[in-house]
Amino acid sequence: MQACRAIKVWPIDNLQGNPKMSDTSCDLFVIGGGSGGVRAARIAAGHGARVALAEEYRYGGTCVIRGCVPKKLLVLASRLADEFGRAPAYGWTLGDARFDWRALREAKDREIARLEGIYRNNLVASGVRVFESRAVLEAPDTVRLLATGETVRAERILIATGGVPMRPDIPGAELAITSDDVFDLPELPKRMIIEGGGFIAVEFACLLKRLGVQVTLFYRGELILRGFDDDLRRHLDAAMREDGIEIRTRTTITAIERDGAAYRVSDDRGSSTGTDLVMLATGRVPNVHGLGLERAGVEVGADGAIRVGEDSRTSVRRIWAVGDVTGRVALTPVAIREGHAFADTEFGGRPWHCDHRDVPVAVFATPEIGTVGLTEAQARERHANIDIYRSSFRPMSNVLEADAKRMLVKLVVERDTDRVLGVHLCGPDAAEMIQLAAIPLKMGATKRQFDQTVAVHPSAAEELVTMRTPA
Ligand code: NDP
Repeated sequence: MQACRAIKVWPIDNLQGNPKMSDTSCDLFVIGGGSGGVRAARIAAGHGARVALAEEYRYGGTCVIRGCVPKKLLVLASRLADEFGRAPAYGWTLGDARFDWRALREAKDREIARLEGIYRNNLVASGVRVFESRAVLEAPDTVRLLATGETVRAERILIATGGVPMRPDIPGAELAITSDDVFDLPELPKRMIIEGGGFIAVEFACLLKRLGVQVTLFYRGELILRGFDDDLRRHLDAAMREDGIEIRTRTTITAIERDGAAYRVSDDRGSSTGTDLVMLATGRVPNVHGLGLERAGVEVGADGAIRVGEDSRTSVRRIWAVGDVTGRVALTPVAIREGHAFADTEFGGRPWHCDHRDVPVAVFATPEIGTVGLTEAQARERHANIDIYRSSFRPMSNVLEADAKRMLVKLVVERDTDRVLGVHLCGPDAAEMIQLAAIPLKMGATKRQFDQTVAVHPSAAEELVTMRTPA
């Protein structure tokens, strides 16, 4: 832990009437310098509040330091393998392409350091007083900085401490890495077992395979990405297998043991598999351990997430929480909106709250998934008459290849109102497309309005407005 280094940009008030506490107070104390906390702090400071923020590690949180941003850089690096593979079909003759993990890791580290600096500088430029220290709740209105023991009294406190990887309780779990560790591996293993069938498991399976790792995915369910549209799940599952990723479904790791410099993994189907590295991608849990929630009276749910209302207020009147620690929608842009809404509401006189419906989502597997709205199964549960428009085609980006991969585009439409309830994509640029498709969906657009839009040709996205006949 780094020493507590406070940057004083607003004057310290003398606290009256509590001699036990130090003489520091503020309008808002934010615990956690990730996406949600930083946004809330900057917006509140912009509204004129005296804001302090404590971060024990690095600014930017999971997304910037060990999540979305470095992951996307690795994904982009991995997809160059596909480009090199298809280049000859487009007339190129390539030399000997070799991949250097260290070079990529160092480039990634430089970019993360740059972004972290921006996060920190933006906080300071906004007038937020930053503490490089772990902070815990001492009372409903008081935070203690562990680096110095100093206490700060706050009119309002915001908890934005994010989540941490969850390791199943199995012998040898400590021998495995999690996504927190994968970015800084000294070198890539030859063979790797990944456990899980969610976002992190499929994203890393796809990218590591392309970077030369022989990947085996162990998933306890029948089909990866539970909760996503079934057509998307099947499409990605087939594409991953075709790319040489071994997927063992209905299989759970029961023990991990050392085997010389490698590992031996036992599973509940009675098999034992050798591997060079095991990564557990079995979900993330709210980061509340040791935060002093009990001392302050902040309630948590059975899943360990801080209970909050629509306005992100906890069971304690002066304490709010945003982001992954609340167990709502564990996505960076959602945490940012929750933090922004909190700050506008409490300090800007502009009450609003983050709408958690129809949040567009991307899974940066290869092929990529973009999805928004109801899955076909959800739509059929909620509405009597559903039409499905589905197209599976070879996008032009790889059409000259002998084994060109197909892209999936699917619309879920309520027949009675003609409203588009869900858009589901799997293929190149699906993440970029779904951001745009999410706008008409959120506006309540009908299929007819999609069809009235002129197609952009030739593109993959034109399928969104050219599918005429329900499947
Ligand atoms: P997910 O919840 O997506 O997936 C966890 C996986 O682990 C599921 O397949 C689950 O199975 C399985 N699992 C859970 N517990 C066990 C267990 N005890 N033993 C074996 N398997 C288990 O979590 P991730 O860790 O992949 O990601 C965490 C969150 O981070 C995501 O939910 C997402 O919100 C966010 N994220 C977003 C990304 C993006 O936007 N592109 C990228 C990465 C993360 P089952 O399906 O049966 O429950």
